[in-house]
Amino acid sequence: MSKSKLGTCKTPNKAALAWVDEMTKLCQPDRIFWCDGSEQENQMLCDLMVQSGTLTKLNEKLRPGSYLARSHPSDVARVEDRTFICARSKDEVGPTNNWADPAEMKKTLLGLFNGSMKGRTMYVIPFAMGPLDSPICKIGIEISDSPYVVVNMRIMTRMGQAVLDKLGADGRFIPCLHSIGAPLKPGQKDIAWPCEPDPQKKYIVHFPDESVVAKKEGWMAEHMLILCFTSPRGKKHYLAAAFPSACGKTNLAMMLPTLPGWKATCLGDDIAWIRVSKDGRLYAINPETGFFGVAPGTSRKSNPNAVDTFAKNSIFTNVALTADGDVWWEDSGMPAPAKAIDWEGREWTPDTGRKAAHPNSRFTAPASQCPVIDPDWQNPEGVPLSAILFGGRRPSTIPLVNEAFNWEHGVFLGSACGSETTAAALGQAGVLRRDPFAMLPFCGYNMADYFAHWLSFAQRADRSKLPKVYFVNWFRKDGNGKWLWPGYGENSRVLKWICERVEGAAKAQETPIGNLPTPDGLDLSGLNLPGEDLKQLLSVDIAGWKKEADDIAAYQAKFGEKLPGALKQQLDELRERLG
Ligand code: GDP
Ligand code: MN
Repeated sequence: MSKSKLGTCKTPNKAALAWVDEMTKLCQPDRIFWCDGSEQENQMLCDLMVQSGTLTKLNEKLRPGSYLARSHPSDVARVEDRTFICARSKDEVGPTNNWADPAEMKKTLLGLFNGSMKGRTMYVIPFAMGPLDSPICKIGIEISDSPYVVVNMRIMTRMGQAVLDKLGADGRFIPCLHSIGAPLKPGQKDIAWPCEPDPQKKYIVHFPDESVVAKKEGWMAEHMLILCFTSPRGKKHYLAAAFPSACGKTNLAMMLPTLPGWKATCLGDDIAWIRVSKDGRLYAINPETGFFGVAPGTSRKSNPNAVDTFAKNSIFTNVALTADGDVWWEDSGMPAPAKAIDWEGREWTPDTGRKAAHPNSRFTAPASQCPVIDPDWQNPEGVPLSAILFGGRRPSTIPLVNEAFNWEHGVFLGSACGSETTAAALGQAGVLRRDPFAMLPFCGYNMADYFAHWLSFAQRADRSKLPKVYFVNWFRKDGNGKWLWPGYGENSRVLKWICERVEGAAKAQETPIGNLPTPDGLDLSGLNLPGEDLKQLLSVDIAGWKKEADDIAAYQAKFGEKLPGALKQQLDELRERLG
């Protein structure tokens, strides 16, 4: 394709053409650019953004094919309190979401989008989540006036011509509209990161009639990593795990097992789409093609495979720029540079007392570059799950690992998922934020209906073939605020126990809260874990659990009549067992 042809690809899909037409009339861009996803197109857009100051090209020797972006300080994270679910009634979105009236919201948005792309290029981004030939692949068409969005979407999704080919003349797609909200007047000079700076004019809006797809179609869209854990004998087990943000999904997804002979390979670090296959088992796919991870804290020590993944062809957002044209962030394992440019573009030295990288600074890196990417990560059928793990930061009460008695008990454990704020004083209990299934920011309908959807898989699938469910906690602390468990690669010891439980081999003891490993159940060979610590990690703190049960009861009460009876029953049974 010659350079002059970039931006001109088209689809015969009448609905897509009509929608793009309608949005063009609304947003009034100067130009329309249809993205084909090619290398050439990507290079052209990166060059364009280097010219406009949006991107800085990093040192080609140290960080080939990579760029740094510095956003406007008001544009650093997904804003939960500006996320609105526009269902017909408040009841449909439940107590954990912001509701807005769909008609009113459409009016507001039509006002904001009206002429919002004046003076700019409107990019039409055809993208697919999931391998194009997967039974649960979803096609979307995103319209955006941000070339930064285009180059990120190219890493994170299957994007471009192949998607339009798959869509064909009458395929269905999910329409997505984004604008930076910074139209240019004729002759007005652009800035490096144009955006609407007023937080009250930022909106993330879902219209669930059009977007609660998984529930309607009978599958699950989850906030989970997927990994394959292989025994020294070559037996593979696929595991999916849901942890709230900043609780170690990317770390576990790419972990390096410390147990000799065991191997972990990564299929995804953030999203799992799970469906019942013909054989009655649950199969998971990772619908993404990249990793969008938090940079600070990511080091060769904490996550060597992530460091190798973003060695090239990656985009870094809001990290620091070093004098030799590489990136740096806090706890990167690299010594702080004597001088750098911080995420706000200011000169920075270690003694300024400011953070050089924004705490939510990110890398966007192609999954194919992960040294431990699993050979089946793009398998359209997905991989059969042996176990599902839930977890969170729980400094007290919650043991290292706990096996659910059955599916309903597992759903109960998932619904009680949560994480404690780390700011809490040493040894003292922090503020616990319940984050059921780690889906609090992502469940676009009533969470109680979501619980019911999870419960329904005992009927949809073959109950005897459902994955076993576990609750893990790498973050238990002792009285002095010290981690009781070494974590990271040592978590392989817990994964080994889980895989052996699935095979019916490992020993467990039934307790009031679930099945826990017996003291000799975990393989702790070569680990100098004090016996007293192990005891704390695997004991049932009855008083603590009674408080936990009270807290879960208060949380369940939020959902009123909508709460599935099975979850209320699980809580009653837990209380009974605790005595
Ligand atoms: P994600 O947002 O869920 O993907 O979380 P990350 O994988 O980025 O990890 C978030 C933070 O948790 C990082 O600072 C990690 O160093 C830390 N972390 C991850 N795994 C462990 C673990 O096993 N033990 C401890 N103590 N910290 C961990
Ligand atoms: Mn992550």
